Amino acid sequence: MQGTQSGTRGATASAAQDGARARLVLGNWKMHGSLNDNAALLTALRAGAGAATCEIGVCVPFPYLAQVEVLLKGSAVSWGAQDISVHDKGAYTGEVSGAMLNDFGCRWALAGHSERRAMHAESDVLVAEKAKAALAVGLTPVVCVGETLAEREGGNTLGVIERQLEPVLDLGAEALGRMVLAYEPVWAIGTGRTATPEQAQEVHSAIRVALRGLGVPQVRVLYGGSVKAANAATLFAMPDIDGALVGGASLVADEFLRIAAI
Ligand code: PEP
Repeated sequence: MQGTQSGTRGATASAAQDGARARLVLGNWKMHGSLNDNAALLTALRAGAGAATCEIGVCVPFPYLAQVEVLLKGSAVSWGAQDISVHDKGAYTGEVSGAMLNDFGCRWALAGHSERRAMHAESDVLVAEKAKAALAVGLTPVVCVGETLAEREGGNTLGVIERQLEPVLDLGAEALGRMVLAYEPVWAIGTGRTATPEQAQEVHSAIRVALRGLGVPQVRVLYGGSVKAANAATLFAMPDIDGALVGGASLVADEFLRIAAI
C-alpha cells in the first residue's frame, strides 16, 4: 500500500501510541434466514451475549430488520444491513436508504462486500459513496476490501487493497474515524480456507500504517474469511486485527457466541 511502501501517508506514531481498539465481532447472514430460523438464532444470541468479551452485532437481510429490532432491542447485540443506497429517496427500485435503515434501529451498514463488488459491479468509488451515505445518517459503515486469489498469486495484494481504499481514505480523517474497515480476502470467503494470521496481519498492518498517517489509527479493522471458533483466537492475537466479520459461522448461535467470547 502507498502508506506502507512510500510512507507518504506517514507512519509517525508507533503501534503503542495508537490507543486501545475495542474488539468487534459482526455477523453477516448473507441471504440466509427465515422468520422461524431467525427467531431461534436471535433468541439464543440475546441469551448468550452476556458471555461476549467484545462488541457484537449482526448484519441481516433487509426484510428481517423489523424482526431483528423486536428480538434484539435492549440486548448487547446490535444490528445492521448488508448494503445501503447512495440515494436518499426517489425512483431507485430495489434500493434501501440509510434513513430507512435508521427506522429499524440499525447501527451498521456493510459497504463493498466482495459479493456485491463481484456480482453487482460495485466500484471502489461507489463503495466510498455508500460509506458516505451511511455516515450522513449516523450509521457506521463497515467497508470491506480484499483481493482475489489471482491478485494474491500475482503479488498484487497490497496494490489491490490500496486501490479499493483510496476513495474511502479520501473521505478524510473525520469520516474515517466513524467507520469500521474489514479485510476479507475473496479466496477465503465461504471457502473454508482462512488466511493465516500472518497473511492477514500483513494486510492489516499496511492498512494501519495508512490510517496512522491520516491521524486515525483507532479505526477498527476486522478480518473476514471463514472465521470460526477454532481459528479466531490466533487471528485475534495479531496486533492489527480488531475483530471479525463472520459469514457462515454467524448462522450458528453457539459458534458465533464462542467467537465473541474469545
Ligand atoms: C462474509 O460473508 O463476510 C464472510 C467472511 O463469510 P465466511 O465467514 O462464510 O467466509
